[in-house]
Amino acid sequence: MFRKLRIAVLLLVLATVALGSWRAQQRATSWENTLHIAVFPINGDGSAASEAYIRGLQPDSFADITEFIAEEAKRHGVDVLRPIDVALGPTVSVKPPPSPTQASALSAIAWSLKLRWWAWRNTPATSLKPDVRLYVLYHDPQSNARMLHSHGLQKGQIGVINAFASRAMRGSNAMVIAHEFLHTLGATDKYGADLQPNWPDGFAEPDAQPRYPQQMAELMAGRIPRSESESDIPRSLNQVLIGPASAAEIGWLKRP
Ligand SMILES: [Zn+2]
Repeated sequence: MFRKLRIAVLLLVLATVALGSWRAQQRATSWENTLHIAVFPINGDGSAASEAYIRGLQPDSFADITEFIAEEAKRHGVDVLRPIDVALGPTVSVKPPPSPTQASALSAIAWSLKLRWWAWRNTPATSLKPDVRLYVLYHDPQSNARMLHSHGLQKGQIGVINAFASRAMRGSNAMVIAHEFLHTLGATDKYGADLQPNWPDGFAEPDAQPRYPQQMAELMAGRIPRSESESDIPRSLNQVLIGPASAAEIGWLKRP
């Protein structure tokens, strides 16, 4: 009897968690109200340069992302005055658990659970509870030429982003943050193993004649296709669009 009761309670807890996460995802992609995003900066490499860069961040440092999403939402016919709001949260001093080195489904699940536990323990309280939490780890570009991967998880709506502590890299940082933010809403990557954008979903202008070179990047492909084997990283969100496939995934339109 006691054992049955214990199992029933456990199932109820699991169902409540699953329902809570499903409802959060539904709310995030309904686009009826402003979606609140908080960016929590983290000194990713412990450097003085990252420290100084984080100190220099302002409440409007992510305004380009807010404007980009507002423009793209409008272009896709989403009728909400201010689709997202990006607030600068307090600095977080404890780094998130490192992402798994080998790509297995089990290690991905384990990492996702560890990350949510870490976020629950280490996220400072903010006046407004954010719908999406983005943790941005800054690194000094002088000593980190190659950047680590970034991740955006739909479950828990958490992003872990590796960015450069440099004003010159602000545009590409904004692009990475926007890309991972879209993952938290359910958008998928649109590039292949060679990092080349997939046609047609990963192209900003899939019907352009000739197809190459393209002028813009699709956000979830992340690169501007120049030829069949070459593509460039955009300098800022001014060179980026959200294509119909990604727009459909985040609830902006019916699947094309
Ligand atoms: Zn991605």
